[in-house]
Amino acid sequence: MANIKFFNTESFPLEMHKVCTVQQLTIPSVERRVEALYETGFNSYRLTTDDLYLDMLTDSGVNAMSNEQLASMLRADEAYAGSATYKRLSAKIKEIFNKDYFLPVHQGRACENMLARGLVKEGDIIPMNFFFGSTVNQIKQCGGTFRIMLCDEGLKLQSDVPFKGNFDLEKLESFLKAERGRVPFMRIEAGTNLIGGQPIALDNMLAAVRLCKEYGALAVLDASLLQDNLYFIKTREEAYKNASIREITRKLADAVDIIYFSARKLGFARGGGICLNDSEIYERLKAFVARFEGFPTYGGMSVREMEAICVGLDDTMNEDVISQGPQMIAFLCGELQKHGVPVVTPPGGLGCHIDAMKFVPHIPYEQYPAGSLACAIYIASGSRGMERGCIDEPWEDGKPAYGAMELVRLAVPRRVYTVSQMRYMADRVAWLYEHRDLIGGIKFESEQHKNFFDRLTAVNDWPYRLAEQFRRDFGDSV
Ligand SMILES: *Cc1c(COP(=O)(O)O)cnc(C)c1O
Repeated sequence: MANIKFFNTESFPLEMHKVCTVQQLTIPSVERRVEALYETGFNSYRLTTDDLYLDMLTDSGVNAMSNEQLASMLRADEAYAGSATYKRLSAKIKEIFNKDYFLPVHQGRACENMLARGLVKEGDIIPMNFFFGSTVNQIKQCGGTFRIMLCDEGLKLQSDVPFKGNFDLEKLESFLKAERGRVPFMRIEAGTNLIGGQPIALDNMLAAVRLCKEYGALAVLDASLLQDNLYFIKTREEAYKNASIREITRKLADAVDIIYFSARKLGFARGGGICLNDSEIYERLKAFVARFEGFPTYGGMSVREMEAICVGLDDTMNEDVISQGPQMIAFLCGELQKHGVPVVTPPGGLGCHIDAMKFVPHIPYEQYPAGSLACAIYIASGSRGMERGCIDEPWEDGKPAYGAMELVRLAVPRRVYTVSQMRYMADRVAWLYEHRDLIGGIKFESEQHKNFFDRLTAVNDWPYRLAEQFRRDFGDSV
């Protein structure tokens, strides 16, 4: 929001938009919530939206579109090849990121698929500030591996360091020195998804890119969560407090060789794209887009979504627009902290992240603390978050590979929910925290099916006991 001070009340996020179209919601009864968990398998991915009040699973593809975006979709030029829509979006990419070539693809992971096929060969290692599931899978599929170069502070859940997504530059340099020749590119994730939407500083990115140039590696920016990261650079990085969002974006874009993004997050729509200046790499990637995605002027995307991205990218350059997510998240985190609920600090982008190991320390790791907490939050609020812990992460040799964090993410889709809805969530989660000893563990129903979309069940009847407590405390309220 713009700089607004309040006279008579504590500060809170003020919405800088008005609602044009609404979707009606209901809150299922607490009895129905317990029933729905047993029906769908104690896994928030498996709940359907008719059993939900707030859907805080993800920020992917569910951000609210503006009236201008919807209007732009009507002028989309439906042509298999060479549409005016493609021209408009390429021109917008050139204007904002200053890259000559643009390859549309159907979503973020498709960008990663194209880049891995085009740039990674057997034995290569890709350094990155932090990993993301879809990225790593694509790199591995091409015979490569990855190495995490995150600063130590990044894995500390409670901290006051403003940029926990920063590279450890010393570590990066000695790695690049030692592995010269095996590093086709470095990947910068801005901001970092799996450590709580934590941003990376612009100066840290620029320094990391300088190291890449020195050791002959390309710099690739994963800009999927760039929107929030731009806001954090502007508000947390002293050197850039007077720079405009466009200037910050340009400085960053000019430093890196390739930018890719999931337009399910960046641009308030659905789709994805790769932006670059190198004509040789462009030709190589273009062949993969034609083979796997669609003709390279639409790349598997609907042209309507491409028009919406065009407008959405412009919106992303507006501080009043991009401040909304981080401020709403900071508000929710602050309300939870008032009740002692352990959250990842400082608040980042994407959503509010609850530290399950501290919330339910009595649930053993083998019974999925974060997964259990996500189910309990659903019982308490009729709303879902996402388990970001050892169920969701890649498993290796039957064990969770990166068990460092057990988080429940309450994603805050951009421009979707209001302050009162955030207060409702804070209230219900605070109630749950009071009764955290009633929360029990969960387990997979089958040893053969232990993936993040498979069925689990409660280890005992704790969901019923939690619902009974809810009834005692809230009477006939939903
Ligand atoms: C979501 C995301 C992706 C993958 O994008 P999809 O559109 O879901 O395929 C890649 N990187 C980051 C940082 C993301 O948050």
